[in-house]
Amino acid sequence: MASVLVVEDDQFVRSALIRHLTDASHTVRSVGTALEALREVAHFRFDVVILDLGLPDLDGSEALKMLRGITDVPVIIATARDDETEIVRLLNDGADDYLTKPFSVEHLSARMAAVLRRSGAGGGADAPVSRALRVGGLAIDPLRRQAELDGAPLDLTRREFDLLAFLAGRPGVVVPRKELLAEVWQQSYGDDQTIDVHLSWLRRKLGETAAKPRYLHTLRGVGVKLEPPL
Ligand code: CA
Repeated sequence: MASVLVVEDDQFVRSALIRHLTDASHTVRSVGTALEALREVAHFRFDVVILDLGLPDLDGSEALKMLRGITDVPVIIATARDDETEIVRLLNDGADDYLTKPFSVEHLSARMAAVLRRSGAGGGADAPVSRALRVGGLAIDPLRRQAELDGAPLDLTRREFDLLAFLAGRPGVVVPRKELLAEVWQQSYGDDQTIDVHLSWLRRKLGETAAKPRYLHTLRGVGVKLEPPL
């Protein structure tokens, strides 16, 4: 069914949600803080995020804004505050739906089904064939071989695209140069210059430099990673 991220710091509510969602044959990951949630959505693909607004580290609306900065995954906010003004603001800030605590399992199921239907996720017949990888303002569609930065198409060579798409599939992960050579260049050996040259072309197209990186970070002697700018 769907892949769900539950962001909830209350152990009791969290285990109840996990149990219910797992019973409904969804796959679930769960975290208790907003920062962990950001890390999760940067590393894994979810069909929907259930976001508790009362988290220990970040205010709910801050958490939502930061999530929206790196992903367009549907977000259902779960709030104990029955504050209409705030809920309207959060919906305007990019939340897809909301639930007021305490909510029933049936209510959650209905909201999730509606959100998944709208986003075309959850394995429905009309699910999009090709889904873009998103890292910050970057959107990379591996099947159509198209990439955009902040909505503007990027004109990339085949190798630049392969390099970007490979890194975008593992956002925040330092990929060793050896692995890049093997996966992007299909070479078991080669000199670092090959990678450096392509990285510098790619950087130029992303409008950044090695000295002032935004998305592409080189860790000397270790590897390369792509992550959304802070
Ligand atoms: Ca809470």
